[in-house]
Amino acid sequence: MYQVVIIGAGPIGGRLATELASRGISTLMIEEHAEIGRPFQCAGLVNPPAMQMVGLEDTILQNVDGALMHSPSGIMLPVGKDGRVRTHVVCRKKFDQAVVAQAMEAGAHLWLLSKPIDAEVVKDGVNIKIEREGEIVDLKCNLLIGADGAHSWTRRYFKMGRPKEMMIGFQTDVSGLSGKDNWLEMYTGRDIAPGLFAWVIPTGNNTHRIGVWSRPQDLDGRSVEECYDSLISHPLWKKRFAKAKEIARYCGPVPCGTIRKPFKDRVMVIGDAAGMAKPTTGGGIGPGFRQVEAIIEKLVEAVNKDKLDASNLSSVCKPFKAFRKEQDRARALRDLLVRIPDDEELDSHFRMFNRPEVLELINEVGDIEHPVPLGMTLLRKVPEFRKLAVKAGFKLLFA
Ligand SMILES: Cc1cc2nc3c(=O)[nH]c(=O)nc-3n(C[C@H](O)[C@H](O)[C@H](O)COP(=O)(O)OP(=O)(O)OC[C@H]3O[C@@H](n4cnc5c(N)ncnc54)[C@H](O)[C@@H]3O)c2cc1C
Repeated sequence: MYQVVIIGAGPIGGRLATELASRGISTLMIEEHAEIGRPFQCAGLVNPPAMQMVGLEDTILQNVDGALMHSPSGIMLPVGKDGRVRTHVVCRKKFDQAVVAQAMEAGAHLWLLSKPIDAEVVKDGVNIKIEREGEIVDLKCNLLIGADGAHSWTRRYFKMGRPKEMMIGFQTDVSGLSGKDNWLEMYTGRDIAPGLFAWVIPTGNNTHRIGVWSRPQDLDGRSVEECYDSLISHPLWKKRFAKAKEIARYCGPVPCGTIRKPFKDRVMVIGDAAGMAKPTTGGGIGPGFRQVEAIIEKLVEAVNKDKLDASNLSSVCKPFKAFRKEQDRARALRDLLVRIPDDEELDSHFRMFNRPEVLELINEVGDIEHPVPLGMTLLRKVPEFRKLAVKAGFKLLFA
């Protein structure tokens, strides 16, 4: 018997378990894999506020001060400033393991090689059948939380709907590439990353992560892997990637669009399971940590009072509404600026931004993690951008 059982010991499950256990809630994490942090499917970018929450600076491989953004025809937009850290690149395995270790230090328990096969909500709790190292174990808890990632068993089992968008990401680790150590690169264009972008992220010691992400409906039957091949063999960029030697490759989903009701009686989902990743960057760690922070006090109170029916959990999850709104506005901004089928039009946006006064504005207000304030400033100060927003039906302003 536990007060809370969390399915999934990823970064969000681990973070939530830390916060619950450190407030005296008996918590068990159930993880299907034999070790934490594997398989690895992430570019490893963790923003400074999220890093501050966990204090895991020893997992940082590289700090990033800015991004060199490339238009389809090769216009380059530098966004950032040397010496001002915008984000960190972490070793995801070490990071996830350390987050889960913090939960265990706080008193949470962890079962590896375990997964749920059945769950039933009854009046006084949730009865769960867990397959643990090949054996079936019966468990009971007051609250079941799914932090079990993009394809969440919990979300599917309790029929809680689907995230609005499910992007696909593909990434390789390479050695042999040179470049500006503290800057990441972004590449755009129909051939390379229709509707979104490709990235090159320095990971220290002359290694990099090269990745692409896109929405399935924008791919026109191609795979993201084919997009990746288009990037490294593109006439404009093939010289850049000629010396890259592949060490590993992986592919994974990125759910962006918080589900409407991430709760039912005695059940809730969080993190990727609830579709919390950012539609502009695909980042899910920062938003997931913020989600935990936003609900923890009310959640602990609800668990302690055993007030865990859907209406109580709806009140606990109220802050998610603001998250969803923020996601919707960021998505509108992304669609306005990047999800453009025509490369020439995309180029014209780069031209608009590539003026000293606009670049200065971007560097002053711009934050890829929080693009909406920048969008609003551009609306006020850059006439061409205003025209664009009008074209988009002011979705941005009123979303
Ligand atoms: C290519 C790519 C690049 C990305 N880059 C970034 C980035 O740079 N920065 C960033 O912030 N985010 C990035 N993301 C997104 C990020 O990886 C996720 O948002 C983040 O991992 C979400 O954490 P989570 O704990 O919710 O889910 P997950 O990390 O998916 O963890 C879920 C855990 O649950 C376990 N699990 C799943 N099902 C079960 C089950 N039935 N039973 C038991 N255990 C189960 C899994 O094994 C896993 O350990 C990227 C994603 C992709 C695909």
